[in-house]
Amino acid sequence: MSKKINLKDSNVPLKIDDTTLRDGEQTAGVVFSNKEKVHIAKMLDEIGVHQIEAGIPAMGGSEKEAIKAIVDAGLKTSILAWNRPVIEDIKHSLDCGVQAIAISIAVSDIHIQTKLKKDRAWVLNAIKESLDFAKKRGLYVSVNAEDGSRADFDFLVKFASVAKEYGADRLRFCDTIGILEPFKTYEKIKSLKEAVDIEIEMHTHNDFGMATANALAGVKAGATWINTTVNGLGERAGNAALEEIVMALKYTEGIDLGIKTHMLRELSEYVALASARTVPVWKAIVGANVFAHESGIHADGVLKNPQTYEAFSPEEVGLQRQIVIGKHSGAHAIIAKFKEYGIDLTSEEAQEILTEVRKMAVELKRALFDKELVYIYKEIKERKRR
Ligand code: MN
Repeated sequence: MSKKINLKDSNVPLKIDDTTLRDGEQTAGVVFSNKEKVHIAKMLDEIGVHQIEAGIPAMGGSEKEAIKAIVDAGLKTSILAWNRPVIEDIKHSLDCGVQAIAISIAVSDIHIQTKLKKDRAWVLNAIKESLDFAKKRGLYVSVNAEDGSRADFDFLVKFASVAKEYGADRLRFCDTIGILEPFKTYEKIKSLKEAVDIEIEMHTHNDFGMATANALAGVKAGATWINTTVNGLGERAGNAALEEIVMALKYTEGIDLGIKTHMLRELSEYVALASARTVPVWKAIVGANVFAHESGIHADGVLKNPQTYEAFSPEEVGLQRQIVIGKHSGAHAIIAKFKEYGIDLTSEEAQEILTEVRKMAVELKRALFDKELVYIYKEIKERKRR
């Protein structure tokens, strides 16, 4: 078996815990088959995430079998299972052979009072008992503060210090309904980190389109783990997307996690298929069209030097650059396109083709296929011969 990733390795500045198989599968209407779950886990392991949140053992049945199969696959990455603060849940996790668990409990008053119908003391007690049970069995434990972003801050601090006192390895700060913005996130995580010396993981939702930004803000404030999903799959508007987090860390923060990013598109396609959730062509990092250039000025710039209009090269995430010929194209792109077929156009020919291209693109309301360009070229030649 390959060497396991050491979760306490302080040389790794940041760690990714991917929850495509847990929060991702909680997306309304999404179900992965067990084979798909194992395949996704293997791909996540291969690209180099540090931990995989594999599912919820207490659900029993095929969910438990899938988690066991992932544990038995002998991956380098750590496998984590999700639990309520209930001894029975943790026993189900132990049955699966995982070495890491999350124990999740709501910490906001709205959740404690109206969902759980309990009080804060009950929450603290539940976490103490379940943590005690788990740590005695040698498990690595993340204590998840569900709805942490709406919790009373003093109670959140109390909760975190109890978690630390009872041996929690980290605290997952959950912006469960995605109501934070990066500046507030930074302040909260910084204050929390100052109050309690515990590793913090960011679990952010995308309800206002800020999941990735909030996770990065947490990191700036001292969080050392990020909980992601492939394609940003997850409850409602989804979670922080793995591909966005990895590439944004690299290019906006200068933190290279050593993830095999050239596999990101392939992983995205597989998860899109397995979840039956199409990835928009403009999806950040992995969308099919994020390296497609049509407008004359952009295409001309990219043809001269790709860095004029690209933050990183398409190969880095497993995509390809495309020069699209359509309504907004310019003569340089037409000349470059025909060069691909071994045809050298004069600039007058390129202009003539461009006029036809614009007419046709507006009529069809789309960009043109290569075959259509060849057709236009032949027509112009034919017209001249007559
Ligand atoms: Mn969530």
